[in-house]
Amino acid sequence: MNFDYPHNALNGSVVAQKIVSAVASTIGNIPAALHEPSFSGNEWEYIKSCLDSTFVSSVGKFVDRFESDLASYTGAKYAVAVVNGTAALHIALLLAGVQRDEEVLMPSLTFVATANAVRYCGAEPHFIDCEMATLGLAPEPLREHLNTIAEIRSDACFNRQTGRRIRAIIPMHTFGHPVKMDELLRVAKDFKLTLIEDAAESLGSYYYGRHTGTIGLVGTLSFNGNKTITTGGGGAILTNDEALAKKAKHLTTTAKIQHPWSYEHDEVGYNYRLPNLNAALGCAQLEQLPAFLENKRKLYGRYKDSFTDIPGVHIVDEPAGCKSNFWLQTLQLDIGDLAFRNSILEATIAAGYMCRPIWTPMHKLKPYINCSRASLPVTDLLELQLINLPSSASLVKNT
Ligand SMILES: *Cc1c(COP(=O)(O)O)cnc(C)c1O
Repeated sequence: MNFDYPHNALNGSVVAQKIVSAVASTIGNIPAALHEPSFSGNEWEYIKSCLDSTFVSSVGKFVDRFESDLASYTGAKYAVAVVNGTAALHIALLLAGVQRDEEVLMPSLTFVATANAVRYCGAEPHFIDCEMATLGLAPEPLREHLNTIAEIRSDACFNRQTGRRIRAIIPMHTFGHPVKMDELLRVAKDFKLTLIEDAAESLGSYYYGRHTGTIGLVGTLSFNGNKTITTGGGGAILTNDEALAKKAKHLTTTAKIQHPWSYEHDEVGYNYRLPNLNAALGCAQLEQLPAFLENKRKLYGRYKDSFTDIPGVHIVDEPAGCKSNFWLQTLQLDIGDLAFRNSILEATIAAGYMCRPIWTPMHKLKPYINCSRASLPVTDLLELQLINLPSSASLVKNT
């Protein structure tokens, strides 16, 4: 990081105008959304075929095909398609055995869905710091925190301060940048924790050649309208464990026992299956994923070029050994430029570029303000440093 304060002599609007010009020289002088989908493949054809079949709901060939396409794309043995990424997280936590009054470790810097899914299980989020290199969960501070507060009793990890069992840990691959999975898996093993990956943002991202979401016990994806590919709303659970995949399918389809006509349900299940209509859209989108990824990487290169000569800011790179999907392009302000963040947001938005700050960290949100947490210095800094730039694959024309 650059600790010089090159802009202190300037005012915020001068810095902000330089940023606006750099964005304009990258994507042109037209308004741009933060991330919009692109439907230039077989979307209309598959949706028409779905409507013609009348199977628009929980049964149909597109759901099965989408699941098998997802499995082969990611290399996961099994994929279970669900109504959204939050539902995928909820089921993943149940598969990990998370129970009422237990704790789940996660980054404070995430979208609120990660914390909400833990509460849906009656459990408590416990927030850990992020690191600069990945913008995701920091393995060393996590280990130090656990060394301080955790205790292993009869093969389970307990929080000595709250008395609660700590069951699992959910790293999240921020904006598509993979976290340090090997180091995190080692901490999980040493402290008897189950690792679930929130890969909602990282379809198409690889950690040392392995697709994100397939490395922990269970991983989850989101196909919301603003993600790399969309099904309107949708998500998926990834796992290599056959028994867990079966359980995921059972829980997401109202826990109904297969029978030609009888309604038997052997536990409280969920109506979380992805409708066939949404899956039809997903099949068409997945076919275009390689082209989307190529364009998003090109866009990253162009932003990087445009911002190289602007002191005090830089474009966030992919972590070492990893391939990011570059879901959202990110501008990072040096510490000396933090005071200009709001001016930059105001000027870029006024110029028609839908830029956004990163999420408010979970430990500052009303429902989670009293949750356990480690010290979060990097999280608090990143909150002020990061601005997402217009990132749609369509901003780079296929030429
Ligand atoms: C998008 C997202 C989700 C899930 O979102 P849905 O809108 O429910 O599909 C979960 N976690 C993170 C980090 C996300 O970005």
